[in-house]
Amino acid sequence: MKESRYRIYSQYLKEKYGEKIYKIPINLPVTCPNRDGILGRGGCIFCGEEGAGFENLASSISVKDQLNKNIEYIQKKYKAKKFIAYFQNFTNTYLPLEQFKEYIYASCQENVVEISISTRPDCVNDKYLAFLNEVKEEKNINICIELGLQSVNYHTLRKINRGHSLAEFIDAIIRIKKYGFDSCVHMILNLPWDEKEDVIEGAKIISALGVEQVKLHSLYILKNTVIGRMYENNEFKIISLEEYVDRVVTFLEYLDPNIVIQRLVGRAPKENTLFCNWDTSWWKIKDHIDEKMEKLDSFQGKKFMYLNGKALMHIKNP
Ligand code: SF4
Repeated sequence: MKESRYRIYSQYLKEKYGEKIYKIPINLPVTCPNRDGILGRGGCIFCGEEGAGFENLASSISVKDQLNKNIEYIQKKYKAKKFIAYFQNFTNTYLPLEQFKEYIYASCQENVVEISISTRPDCVNDKYLAFLNEVKEEKNINICIELGLQSVNYHTLRKINRGHSLAEFIDAIIRIKKYGFDSCVHMILNLPWDEKEDVIEGAKIISALGVEQVKLHSLYILKNTVIGRMYENNEFKIISLEEYVDRVVTFLEYLDPNIVIQRLVGRAPKENTLFCNWDTSWWKIKDHIDEKMEKLDSFQGKKFMYLNGKALMHIKNP
């Protein structure tokens, strides 16, 4: 098999756990402070009613049942033995601590090797992290916190109504690192207000903070969202597929080669979308990225030489 030009998540998991690992989505009955009125109403301008977890089971089903129903299916199909319990949808730490504890404990079982929790940077708190650390030590289960950031440009963050700026993200990563948990950062590389320069800065900030994993998304535009209405009124343009591929390749070149890549392209069901992946399947876009990297002899980390006093490089024995 040809060696990959970036660090692939499935291979990383195999190296870490010694076998193939599957991520099992769990859907909690939670919302988000950016939707319920605490920070804002309606949420980020691209967020739909279902959040990110359109593949999930209903949140009314208990954590254990969701986990085991999905495990049963995956086990039969792929003969898998170990799993990651993935609290995927909305903001999974936006809960009273006791309730959060209950849900997390419900996901701890022998075949679960890792718990992955999606949340917002402004919903990361020391008390919740300290509890997760107890889980890690008592149950021998690894923890990964997945943070939506989407852009490092704080003007764009305001335009997309994130309800937080870059500072809250930096704070969250520093706190997560104190406990030695992994973090995964979600970025959208084709937000209409971001330039290629923002994408490069994103890769540099994520690398400088020592984040462990990234998940890249291409923006999909859902009907009945603020961005959907803006799209229908021609208030912005979406970059071409070629440009998206170029941004992904550039992002990877600036990224620390140790960072694991969970995903390069967003995936969404076509129904209900006004725009989704240039009407091209995600795997074709991924192939396109691979081909471009091959052609340019590009690889993750090719331009990763900007940390640790870059300007001193030309001085002998700095
Ligand atoms: S933070 Fe996530 S769940 Fe909350 S509004 Fe934004 S996209 Fe939706």
